[in-house]
Amino acid sequence: MPIEPVSVFPGEHKIVNILFATSEVVPFAKTGGLADVGNALPIELARMGVDVSVFVPAYRCALNAGQTIEVTSHHFDIPIGGKIVSGRLLRSHLPGSAVPVYLIDQPDYFDRPELYRERGEDYKDNCERFVFFCRAVMESIRLLDLQVDILHCNDWQTSLIPAYLQVEYRHARRFEHVSSVMTIHNMAYQGHFWHWDMLLTGLDWRYYNWHQMEFYGGLNLLKTGLVFADMITTVSPRYAEEIQSDPHGCGLEGVLRQRADDLHGIINGVDYDVWNPATDPLIAAQYDPANWRQGKTQCKSALQKELGLPQFERTPLIGMIGRMADQKGWDLVAEVMKEWGIREAVQWAILGSGEPGYQQLISRLAGQHPERIAARLEFSDQLAHRIEAGADLFLMPSRYEPCGLNQLYSLKYGTVPLVRATGGLADTIVDLESGMETANGFRFENYSAIELERTLARACDVYRTQSDTWKRLVENGMRQDWSWTASARKYVELYQRALSARKTGALLAAR
Ligand code: ADP
Repeated sequence: MPIEPVSVFPGEHKIVNILFATSEVVPFAKTGGLADVGNALPIELARMGVDVSVFVPAYRCALNAGQTIEVTSHHFDIPIGGKIVSGRLLRSHLPGSAVPVYLIDQPDYFDRPELYRERGEDYKDNCERFVFFCRAVMESIRLLDLQVDILHCNDWQTSLIPAYLQVEYRHARRFEHVSSVMTIHNMAYQGHFWHWDMLLTGLDWRYYNWHQMEFYGGLNLLKTGLVFADMITTVSPRYAEEIQSDPHGCGLEGVLRQRADDLHGIINGVDYDVWNPATDPLIAAQYDPANWRQGKTQCKSALQKELGLPQFERTPLIGMIGRMADQKGWDLVAEVMKEWGIREAVQWAILGSGEPGYQQLISRLAGQHPERIAARLEFSDQLAHRIEAGADLFLMPSRYEPCGLNQLYSLKYGTVPLVRATGGLADTIVDLESGMETANGFRFENYSAIELERTLARACDVYRTQSDTWKRLVENGMRQDWSWTASARKYVELYQRALSARKTGALLAAR
């Protein structure tokens, strides 16, 4: 059922139209948290009375996602280097809302088994694929006759949009007052290509300099977006600080420091229509803060059974879900599992897919200790819900974490997060040592297996011997509100600032 807008910011200028360009959006395409944001933020904006439309590539998985998709009459011919590539526009909507989703269809680029890479290797034509996507988004505004106030771009795949706006469209009808906002979901993925790919962008070589598009002898799309966008956001205040220096800036710390006045950290929210143990149809028993013990006991037992672990009620069950990438701390986890994780009476429920090296490492350990470690090396949304509900502790020992969603889901599911204090994890998880009033988990500072092990031992000790303290931690977390409402309001404020800055700028330029 479409969601009715609930408020339209009385007395404030109403944002007419946000175009949200993203390479992932649930339920069409997902490899990580960006896809969750791409769904939940537009829906929340629409609830607030903002007009928003989402643009995403028509990947094979998007076309097979079980959503109704219409073919529109709109076709485009996009110049890519020396050739013209044709595509067409499809239309769908975000389930449970009236938010339109436009899918950029070009089968040679997007009808593939994966989004960006297969068997550990990036697709060789990733630059070309996303040049096409960015140009097609710009062209669609004209074709659909969209009134756009803000082009909200996300990560390197959409980073050329602010450059096209600034360089090619600025003086075209209906683009004079359009502003761009660039959101960084992860600095480690920058869209770094060899310099000849500059030809594919169609932008003049004069922009290929170290202040704009060039980065250590190559073309850097994220840098391009950061330079040309009117405003920059990232997904937590702590990460906004961290990326202004080494190592979290991943080489772009200088660019970010230069744009510090326009850089804002807004924490991601949770879609509680999807992640809520009181209503979740995917888990063994529904529960809320009033009856969580009973509900979680059932969910834990069902999860142990599903994963082939002994159904011990009082053995701490440690859950972890995530991409198997360097970022997520799998090396620390494997290190700790090898000795402490086997010696201590604990169980592990692991769900992850990605780098073959980590997959092998974890599956070897699970093969050696099947009564302790259950590992599913796949992408399974359903199992993710059951681990969130059934585990006692949720582990996120990330090397860095722009925001992190799983710790927020864990709070809601009464699964106490144990995190490394970095990025959004540091902004959302308060250690028990800070006092019972505010504590909702456990955290450690340094990226080290010893610190992780010590913190796990401390958490398991509280679980086993201090049941009242544990109860308080669980309930503090479950009662917190990390919904999108507050964050979406911050985005709207930011859009309004970007818009008035653009209008003032345009007026001054016209004088
Ligand atoms: P990132 O965006 O860096 O991958 P986040 O914590 O922000 O990390 O978001 C990850 C999202 O992807 C969460 O919704 C998480 O549950 C989901 N996810 C990651 N790996 C898997 C997997 N193997 N199976 C199911 N869901 C997964």
